[in-house]
Amino acid sequence: MLDAEFFRRWMAVTAASVEREAERLTALDSPIGDADHGSNLQRGFTAVAGALEKEAPGTPGAVLLLAAKQLISTVGGASGPLYGTLLRRTGKTLGDAAEVSPEELATALRAGVDAVMALGGAAPGDKTMIDALVPAVDALGDGFAAARAAAEQGAQATTPLQARKGRASYLGERSIGHQDPGATSSALLVAALAEAAG
Ligand code: ADP
Ligand code: MG
Ligand code: MG
Repeated sequence: MLDAEFFRRWMAVTAASVEREAERLTALDSPIGDADHGSNLQRGFTAVAGALEKEAPGTPGAVLLLAAKQLISTVGGASGPLYGTLLRRTGKTLGDAAEVSPEELATALRAGVDAVMALGGAAPGDKTMIDALVPAVDALGDGFAAARAAAEQGAQATTPLQARKGRASYLGERSIGHQDPGATSSALLVAALAEAAG
């Protein structure tokens, strides 16, 4: 079973990995965006880690709702509301249980990813974070390590795609040949989940 401590660890590992990879995320956002994805997420997840340390919410759902609130209020770019919605809907779906099973987490994350698609209008293949998140959720039944591999593969598979959503879509065919920054950060989020699971 997964308790609040596990979810706090997931967010802390994500914050550390976003910090480590911020320059790379911003570099990916340079040719097909406005070169701020790394700094956007760094600001957001620094706020998440700080708030969780201060308040230490006692249930998985409360951890994710607090994290979502920080992302929505501190990240200016498109990715803030989208990641905020992902964690918020996932947290709401988990409810106020003190512990959840991996299967319950998989179901809740599926609801979270569906909410991101409803908010942003992106489908798989549009060269967005969805291209890492959907394969990850699909693979989660086989375990956290399988989800991590699927997310990484999904992020890499965005390179030959033409963007149909977000800033990169303004470039039309010129968006082809670059890995999507949001799919790359989503792979970090899923990798952090696997790392938190040990
Ligand atoms: P901004 O584009 O506002 O500067 P970021 O650079 O932080 O925001 O985030 C860009 C990432 O957000 C993209 O690489 C993409 O993965 C994701 N994204 C943008 N628009 C959408 C959308 N409508 N649906 C899903 N993901 C999106
Ligand atoms: Mg950007
Ligand atoms: Mg921006």
